[in-house]
Amino acid sequence: MEPFRVHILGCGSALPTLKHFPSAQVVEVRGKLFLVDCGEGTQIQLRRSRLRFTKISAVFVTHLHGDHCFGLIGMLSTFGLLGRTAKLTVYAPAELADILQRQIDFFCRDLDYEVEFKAVDTTKQQVIYEDRSLTVETIPLQHRVHCCGYLFREKPSLAHIRRDMTDFYEIPISQFNNIKAGADWTTPDGEVIPNSKLTEPADTPRSYAYCSDTRYIPTLYERLKGVSTLYHESTYGEDNLQMAEKYNHSTARQAALVAREAGVGQLLLGHYSSRYEREEVLLNEAREVFENTRLTNEMDVFDV
Ligand SMILES: [Zn+2]
Ligand SMILES: [Zn+2]
Repeated sequence: MEPFRVHILGCGSALPTLKHFPSAQVVEVRGKLFLVDCGEGTQIQLRRSRLRFTKISAVFVTHLHGDHCFGLIGMLSTFGLLGRTAKLTVYAPAELADILQRQIDFFCRDLDYEVEFKAVDTTKQQVIYEDRSLTVETIPLQHRVHCCGYLFREKPSLAHIRRDMTDFYEIPISQFNNIKAGADWTTPDGEVIPNSKLTEPADTPRSYAYCSDTRYIPTLYERLKGVSTLYHESTYGEDNLQMAEKYNHSTARQAALVAREAGVGQLLLGHYSSRYEREEVLLNEAREVFENTRLTNEMDVFDV
């Protein structure tokens, strides 16, 4: 199977700690890299991860709190210093357009590449990006400012050819695309070989949802049905449920409720409040509701 991975660059929340960087991660799908959120220090973490800067084609910003976007102008500037020429697209709530443009005009006058800005409607679930192998959708979230998550879905791939069978029936390679697409094969004597004998089923398409920051939304699972991997913010434990409600964040247990109702494959926790010395507390509370839960940490890589 082609790689579909998430590289964690930062999984802390707004207050700096010596343990975590603020939100940023790279979604790697079939050789392409997409940055999701860009907290302060993202470019340092990119260096540390050894991911190639030039392979990042788009940045998806969830909302305009500093812990999700303060790293952007520094990174754009660095891309310029490194001689980038390929266009970079920034998807974000509309209010960022002016702020970013003014920063670029002032600090990065001589960029040799285009920064294309695409405003996202954070109130709708809709496809905002599409290429041959992938779509990206917005997921409306509820936070103190306009905010949406992002859902990366692999497109269904074609069936796999069974070379033993195509060799046996001496089927020319020129016919392989038709067979992958479902065609039967008729031998020179007129015998019809059904497609099911010539192919193995395609891989099940995988999907990755990033939901941060948000208050607990009891109906969110409806938008995330059957997602392979869900990252859901878990700023607090149950001891700070009231803080979560007050600041429009979620507890680890609430993240797990979303994961369970949606029937996802695995749940990743992050956006930890700096008050938790040991995040295992959060992990344990989530696992009581949804067993296949994991803590994220900087430089972790998860297969979707
Ligand atoms: Zn945040
Ligand atoms: Zn926030």
